[in-house]
Amino acid sequence: MSDHRELARDMDLFHFEEHSPGMVFWHPQGLKLFHSIENFMRQVYQACGFEEVRSPVALNRSLWERSGHWEKFRKGMFVVGSEEGKADNESAQPVISSDYALKPMSCPAHIAIYQSRKRSYRENPMRLMEFGMCHRNERSGTLSGCMRLRQFVQDDAHIFCRESEVQNEISNFLNMVQQVYAAFGYNQFSLQISLRPEQRLGSDHLWDRAESLLIQSVQALGHNYQLAANEGAFYGPKLEISLQDALGRSWQCGTFQIDFNLPQVFELAFVNEQGELERPVMLHQAILGSLERWIGILLEHHRGLLPVWAAPTQIAIAPISDKTFVWAETIFSRLKQLGVRVELHDQDQTISKKIRELSKRRIPLIAIVGEQEIKSKTLNLRFLGTVEQQEISLDQLEHRLVKLITPSASFSP
Ligand SMILES: [Zn+2]
Repeated sequence: MSDHRELARDMDLFHFEEHSPGMVFWHPQGLKLFHSIENFMRQVYQACGFEEVRSPVALNRSLWERSGHWEKFRKGMFVVGSEEGKADNESAQPVISSDYALKPMSCPAHIAIYQSRKRSYRENPMRLMEFGMCHRNERSGTLSGCMRLRQFVQDDAHIFCRESEVQNEISNFLNMVQQVYAAFGYNQFSLQISLRPEQRLGSDHLWDRAESLLIQSVQALGHNYQLAANEGAFYGPKLEISLQDALGRSWQCGTFQIDFNLPQVFELAFVNEQGELERPVMLHQAILGSLERWIGILLEHHRGLLPVWAAPTQIAIAPISDKTFVWAETIFSRLKQLGVRVELHDQDQTISKKIRELSKRRIPLIAIVGEQEIKSKTLNLRFLGTVEQQEISLDQLEHRLVKLITPSASFSP
């Protein structure tokens, strides 16, 4: 079984309801998984010089008109009505106008942060990131579990810099992609460069510059890529990263876009070394894309057997009988202090039933505590999905867990 919705049911992670199509109801275990991924990404972005921000979910129509989203992306947005006050007659219906739209992406909001004060060349490259709650009005027939949603959180990052700094930012991005994907157990990915679409902003001259800058940078970094005509974003060409999963499927997750258009439309500027105004380039990037979709793909890739660092519950302690309970509780408290997501299974059940239940929930590590283990002050450690069993001390377990629960320790910017 590898459908993420069935796995989510077994693991008690999330569910869907008809009254909120394309939106996820996260359960306690599911939100632990979501947070473990979010926290890992937060550390990665911080290590790479990004600063986290948070911006509103609804933004005024005038902003979307200026950014071009209203014209080019209108059908994909949820427009929000606002009450304009009542007409003179008390019984009259309030006037509703569609002044706001829920953001389908965070670009214009990050532009607003950039423009909130005067910027200097000293701040380049300025890197902002947000776990942005986005809404897209996908047609109901295209919705499919976590793989296509109407509401999702995206690791949405923007860099404001000079053209001469772009190649270095692409290099950083590909380094992040490689290490982050490896931490989730993906070792193969491919690159595609998507060129100008028919519906687009700006002059051909700017598109020529942006496309050749992207192609030359990727070539200079020694990566293979495919070219795709007409598939870029409406504001700039796009580098797309697709990973290969264990079932041989390809999923486009990471994206990086070079954008000369929005900085022009919004008249972005920083003060350069000569005290003159200079226009920055805007780079848009996401490594995971939608976190919900990322989790759906991850569950299917691992058949629910997640890397220990990401798993909602990392280890369960299962005492064989009442007599072994005190030692099991000692192990539980020590691991909890260490920051491990640990559960104690003290129900009155046979050990084989406990193991069956914990396995169904895909808990990666199970520590079995029998009477033999009390005497030797050890535990019997089992790895889900393998026949491996080890008799180890609590100190040894702690030592191993410290490494297993911190993926970012091995990350280098
Ligand atoms: Zn963007």
